[in-house]
Amino acid sequence: MKKIPYGRQHITQEDIDAVVEVLQSEWLTQGPNIKKFEEAFASYVGAKYAVAVSNGTAALHLNAMALGVQPGDKVITTPITFVASANCVRYCGGEVVFADIDPDTYLLDINKVRELLEADTQKEIKGIIPVNFAGRVVDMEAFRALADEFGCWIIEDACHSPGGYFINSAGEKVMSGSGRYADLAIFSFHPVKHIAAGEGGMITTNDEVLYKKLLNLRTHGIQQDPTLKIEDHGVWYYEMQELGYNYRLTDFQSALGLSQLKRADAGLQKRKEIATRYFEAFKDFTPIKHQSGVVEGHAYHLYVIQVEKRKELINYLRSLNIFAQIHYIPAHLMPYYRQFGWKEGDLPMAEKYYSGCLSLPVYPTLTLEEQDFVIQSVYKFFDE
Ligand SMILES: *Cc1c(COP(=O)(O)O)cnc(C)c1O
Repeated sequence: MKKIPYGRQHITQEDIDAVVEVLQSEWLTQGPNIKKFEEAFASYVGAKYAVAVSNGTAALHLNAMALGVQPGDKVITTPITFVASANCVRYCGGEVVFADIDPDTYLLDINKVRELLEADTQKEIKGIIPVNFAGRVVDMEAFRALADEFGCWIIEDACHSPGGYFINSAGEKVMSGSGRYADLAIFSFHPVKHIAAGEGGMITTNDEVLYKKLLNLRTHGIQQDPTLKIEDHGVWYYEMQELGYNYRLTDFQSALGLSQLKRADAGLQKRKEIATRYFEAFKDFTPIKHQSGVVEGHAYHLYVIQVEKRKELINYLRSLNIFAQIHYIPAHLMPYYRQFGWKEGDLPMAEKYYSGCLSLPVYPTLTLEEQDFVIQSVYKFFDE
């Protein structure tokens, strides 16, 4: 059996042609494909504005800057995420407050977030970063109501959920990244994510002020709107008004992202089929606990389960060339975050989840035979 990773990109001839076309054009970066990709992506998630950036981490950093995170500010996020969700707060000198997860959904527990906000009499907590972990979209309507009560902003980390949605209290589908409830949302185009661009990221929002600020911050803090320049020396003149970065995406990466975006719905459908097959295969099998079954609107970046004898199982699967993975080591237990006082026992649900979690392979080109091999191998391990 050939190697089966937990996730992988799917590159077609059409993708290759799209990139080659840009390489032979006048613009390698800052060309026309960036705007096209932004517009197509904004329309895909149903947001007004999109800003393409060099990666998801840069997207998070710019968001934290645009929202004004400063030393002394506190921001709440989940420990069951990639560390970048938390690190963006540190880039701006803020303090990360990890809140525990809901043991059924594995998402940030809104009740725990409420407790933290209610205890915050000094009003140091400025924002919340919920993560659509594994592709399951958080109830952003509920988080918005809570955030408004305490004057907080929301960054939706939607890296796992392009094309995903949740159903709000009015019974409407609310797309991940639509900006309907969150102030800003971010996506990543790392090859294991739904849309691959090598590296790449996207910020989506409905807020015009934040949008314009992000455009400037992405390019060194140079004013991108000619009507807002303070001086004008001539045709060569550019004006840096605040401290930004070079977090731009190249034109050929944008072309690749744009080409991949055309197949995003097909990929999502495939992920859902794979998830449904895993669920059906294991639903009555007691050693395995699921992230609450197959959920409408789940984008299935990952298919996470919790198992007994996790370490033995992952080693067994690796011996068969099946590269299941662990998502995630709780961020608060990283040596970097321990220096701020975080320790074992602080977030019991997250830590318990981590002790048994395993991500089974999910990606659009995973064949039925390969998936059956994964399923049979898991059964075989527990039968022995
Ligand atoms: C991948 C990922 C990021 C970071 O994206 P990069 O493009 O790799 O910088 C942030 N948050 C989550 C949840 C991710 O999965």
